[in-house]
Amino acid sequence: MTLKIYNSLTRKKEDFSPIGNGKDVLMYVCGPTVYALSHIGHARSAVAFDVIYRYLSHKGYKVKYARNYTDVDDKIINRASEEGVDAKELAERYIRAFDADMDALGVAVPDVRPKATETIGKIIELTQSLIAKKYAYQSNGDVFYSVRLKKDYGKLSGKNIDELEAGARVDVNEDKLDPLDFALWKAAKPGEPAWDSPWGPGRPGWHVECSAMCLSHLGDAIDIHGGGRDLIFPHHENEIAQSEAATGKTPFAKYWLHNGFVNVAKEKMSKSVGNVLNIRDVLQAHDKEAVRLFLLGSHYRSPLDYTKDSIKEAEAALERFYKTIQRIEEEWTADIIVPALQRGNAVIDAMDDDFNTAGVIGAVFKEINRANKLMDEATDSGYKRQPATVLPSPPRGEGRVRGKLETIRALCKEASSFLGVFGSTPEEFFKRRKTQTDVSPEEIERLIEERNTARRGKDFKKADSIRTELLEKGVALEDTPKGTTWGVKRRFP
Ligand SMILES: [Zn+2]
Repeated sequence: MTLKIYNSLTRKKEDFSPIGNGKDVLMYVCGPTVYALSHIGHARSAVAFDVIYRYLSHKGYKVKYARNYTDVDDKIINRASEEGVDAKELAERYIRAFDADMDALGVAVPDVRPKATETIGKIIELTQSLIAKKYAYQSNGDVFYSVRLKKDYGKLSGKNIDELEAGARVDVNEDKLDPLDFALWKAAKPGEPAWDSPWGPGRPGWHVECSAMCLSHLGDAIDIHGGGRDLIFPHHENEIAQSEAATGKTPFAKYWLHNGFVNVAKEKMSKSVGNVLNIRDVLQAHDKEAVRLFLLGSHYRSPLDYTKDSIKEAEAALERFYKTIQRIEEEWTADIIVPALQRGNAVIDAMDDDFNTAGVIGAVFKEINRANKLMDEATDSGYKRQPATVLPSPPRGEGRVRGKLETIRALCKEASSFLGVFGSTPEEFFKRRKTQTDVSPEEIERLIEERNTARRGKDFKKADSIRTELLEKGVALEDTPKGTTWGVKRRFP
């Protein structure tokens, strides 16, 4: 079966065929604007495209994958001035935090991770070429893109240019020739980061950054461009307008892929509601594989609802999975040989259908149930349970069970190679789970009190042993001037 991908640009599922007709695939995904810690919505986008990247590689494509950092932006500048720090320093801090979160989530590092501030030369060059081609004009140190001149503007979002015009009139800017036009270059305001340009000191607009990073690292035409649904308009629409006008090549990206939102208990995440779930807080409370399993449990384009129950369900499913694998290993083989699977299995079929990870997970658990049933039946019928090494030529019935179990394991292993879930050994999984503490808060408080009593009585040996004991259970203590605080140990740097 050929890989089919839903293309937001054509609004239909299409057979995947790279622009070069070969095995090379160029893929660009819009990364974070680095002004705060990343939340579960960012995790969803990162994991969805991580799986797409891994699956394309699994199918034998040679993927060059770029994911950017937007490291100059109004939000970064505002936040930096609130904190009284340099905008660059703030951006670098949140780049490091994002990378640590991605690492903790098991997201593969893209081949290229460009930063907007390191692409200024290309941004200026692109803006100059748009001015030369009359798609852009300068006005008092700003440069704007003339939206009406691009005849097919609106093709990605399906928006009608006259309706947009009516909406845009609210936002009056005297420097623009048309309210619809958007900024490619913004003249510097006092105290803001700025770069020299032919139009005076200033900084780039958001949309042109991605076009420039994509053009300079991947080329004039790419296979896949991805991002969250919220980026379709205006960000991706404007990226198309700039890139196609500058290069004269259409389409700029052949397939446009967009992931759905994550809600928290049916509500949209927002700072004012106070329900923004940071990746690191989720990972502090739940195993990384459970988080990925939860994120991949729905199709990447559908909305996803995060609730306590849904993440707990993922954790319970994962536990069932590893208990089954442990049982296969302990009861049925000491040294399982994983045969190469034929293409056309349920896992591959699901992935080939627009990366249907929910279908893959369904297929894996169907096999896990089958494995348990096989083992129960074999045990009931009295097959001897011996390691394979002890029984080189097992009786026919048992050999057949073992063969089936090996096939099941191979299928799970294949799924794990691109889902980034199911790839641990049971030992690794259960050991990791222990680092999430089972100690109740009451018990922790009681031990802290006991430790304080010991410290007051100068029994530092006892105080230290309580600290160590808690640390082994995943609870870290910190002595502050206000008293002792505690937190569950984080599992990332
Ligand atoms: Zn972008």
